[in-house]
Amino acid sequence: MTAARPALVDGVTALRGAAMTFAGDPFAVPAAEALAFDPDALVVMRDGRIAAFGPAAALLPSLPPAATIVRYANALLVPGFIDAHVHYPQLPIIGACGGTLLDWLEHYAFVAEQRFADPAFAAATAEAYLDECLRQGVTTAAVYGTVHPGSVDAVFAAALARGMRMIAGKSLMDRNAPAALTDTVQRGYDESKALIGRWHRRGRLAYAVTPRFAPTSSPEQLAAAGALVREHDGVYLQTHLAETSDEIAWVKQLFPGAQDYLDVYARHGLLGRRSVFGHGIHLSDGAWQRIFDAGAAIAHCPTSNNFLGSGHFRFGDAKRAPRPVRVALATDVGGGTTLSMLATMAEAYKVARHTGFGLTPIQAFWLATGGGAEALDLAGKVGGLTPGHDADIAVLDLAATPLVAYRMQFCESLSETLAVLMMLGDDRAVRATWVAGRLAHERRPA
Ligand SMILES: [Zn+2]
Repeated sequence: MTAARPALVDGVTALRGAAMTFAGDPFAVPAAEALAFDPDALVVMRDGRIAAFGPAAALLPSLPPAATIVRYANALLVPGFIDAHVHYPQLPIIGACGGTLLDWLEHYAFVAEQRFADPAFAAATAEAYLDECLRQGVTTAAVYGTVHPGSVDAVFAAALARGMRMIAGKSLMDRNAPAALTDTVQRGYDESKALIGRWHRRGRLAYAVTPRFAPTSSPEQLAAAGALVREHDGVYLQTHLAETSDEIAWVKQLFPGAQDYLDVYARHGLLGRRSVFGHGIHLSDGAWQRIFDAGAAIAHCPTSNNFLGSGHFRFGDAKRAPRPVRVALATDVGGGTTLSMLATMAEAYKVARHTGFGLTPIQAFWLATGGGAEALDLAGKVGGLTPGHDADIAVLDLAATPLVAYRMQFCESLSETLAVLMMLGDDRAVRATWVAGRLAHERRPA
């Protein structure tokens, strides 16, 4: 490739190489209709957005003479990846072994999160987290902070400095957690409202009202969360849903009047179009129908589910006609074991196999790009390379490792190339990451 230079504010930068984006949902239409692929494409970027996408031969004559062209050989340009559910404060305990969800929360997560009372620790962790996102080609994420508002200030400030489109919120917890990690109904409401005022719709940022999960919020706190969602246009709601059997039994005890776990959220005004529920492993047909009816989404977190032994997410149930639910892919670090969306796709494929569902590589890439964008109600903004999208792009290396390079020579289709990238790829497969038209990460040769 030629030396990459940051785009001038008014300038045009174009990336040239093989490129893939989506023209449709590969869960809904055949792969050939869903994919838009060009072996020698030009992605033209201006003012942080994609201005044109198509065959280089057709677009090159239309570029202004001063345009910068960055050429990527033996690479595949894809939309920047979207991680729809992640706890950045758990980065310090990623891979901490032992126990199922509720044990793991008590022994690791709830200990680690107490350190975020210190703004300097929060700032350093947020920087490390976002740098790692960029190394992995992740350009958008829906992020959980801790109960401390400073944890959200830290991750939003770091995202703003990098120009990234990020969603985040302060965890609301007023019971069943260590005293150092609990707020109250009023404090949680006030702190969330202040964070919304400071950050929501600033740059490319958006706020998510974040009750951690039903067991750690009283009914009054869930009602306050519902009020926050109602009172602020465009905010998200993110929480956990039906991750493990023990958790579901606990929710049933805590909320005896609710129809089921999902109903706990619905009756507090937390089931809507911008609601993103992590996991959704153990859901009834009726619950799937209600999620569909509300236009809500599920963030599937396969490495976390395997790490904690939570169960196997059922794509067959989620995508059942005539009520296919929007599903995104997510790492759920630190329950998840990687920030790589390629590794997460590979794990999603394996989880799907356990349920008899054949997740295609094209579908897996959709979940981490266009599908993730739909799930986060960001379709047309991120997750695609066609004009009007933010210029968030991951450049994947088709010779990332000796084995990847060796295996690629036997690939006979784009689908097979994608399979190799997701099964063998990790951060080494991300040659460069562009954020809003600017080079944000470039992999140095080892
Ligand atoms: Zn989680």
